Amino acid sequence: APEATGAAPYLDDPASLIDSVKTFIFDCDGVIWKGESLIDGVPETLDKLRAAGKKLIFVTNNSTKSRKQYMKKFTDLGLSVTEEEIFASSFAAAAYLKGIGFNKKAYIIGEVGIQKEMDIAGISHLGGPEDGQKTIDLSPGVMMEHDHDVGAVVVGFDRYLNYYKLQYATLCLRENPGCLFIATNCDAVTHLTDAQEWAGGGSMVGAIKGSTKKEPFVAGKPSTFMMDWIAKSYGIDKSEICMVGDRLDTDILFGQNGGCRTLLVLSGVTNLKTLQSPDNHIQPDFYANQISDLLGAKAP
Ligand code: PLP
Ligand code: CA
Repeated sequence: APEATGAAPYLDDPASLIDSVKTFIFDCDGVIWKGESLIDGVPETLDKLRAAGKKLIFVTNNSTKSRKQYMKKFTDLGLSVTEEEIFASSFAAAAYLKGIGFNKKAYIIGEVGIQKEMDIAGISHLGGPEDGQKTIDLSPGVMMEHDHDVGAVVVGFDRYLNYYKLQYATLCLRENPGCLFIATNCDAVTHLTDAQEWAGGGSMVGAIKGSTKKEPFVAGKPSTFMMDWIAKSYGIDKSEICMVGDRLDTDILFGQNGGCRTLLVLSGVTNLKTLQSPDNHIQPDFYANQISDLLGAKAP
């Protein structure tokens, strides 16, 4: 297949990229780990960047865990990070609501990560995995009740999605005036296992888009929300950030939307053929095989 003109070059000179930025933002799945296993060379690479005085931040669109739960995952993998360095889309959704002074209730389609972050942000919520057990009553004339104090429906990846939740969220969005529709992320597919691709968070968001004809506010990548939040809260100039990710339409676009440098690694979902295909219109500044190429490894 012909290469796209202007396809990103291999990261031949990692030292000058490292010199030109102050902060590295790393996507997690496909960059730091794959499922439950650490990717080769990650500890050494992070150590070297820290020793060079770089600020490190980790972002993930996976909303199923809270920051604290990700801390445990990093620690279990032998990586030392702080909670303040971790930005999951569960945290981003809570941070967005907190930032606008939201003081109603949130209805959650999603897992425990979103519930925990809402608790920490002081936002009362209902729904979540618990509603996965609930059923609907289709007897003639019976209406499903819903809480008129719900001012936001937050939708993330949910392995316990059912018709009860779809109807509840739909009622809130259609009948509660001004009810917000927040998506943690819209990933089409995800990699729960290596065996195949699995329907991602975008499938749950799409269901609610379908029943309400509304468009969500997206808190996760590639929306600019998390990038702006990170830059503002840490006083980081976005042009001095390098965004490192394995996915073009979330990670690399997230970096480009922020005006950051971008590095695609091939350790996750994107291969060289996809990167160089004429159909691909998202080109990072550079690509590498994995983040340990930042240590100076040569192209294969
Ligand atoms: N959402 C879910 C449910 C996932 O399982 C994953 C990856 O494991 C993702 C999103 C993408 O995560 P990341 O942004 O770290 O690549
Ligand atoms: Ca990823």
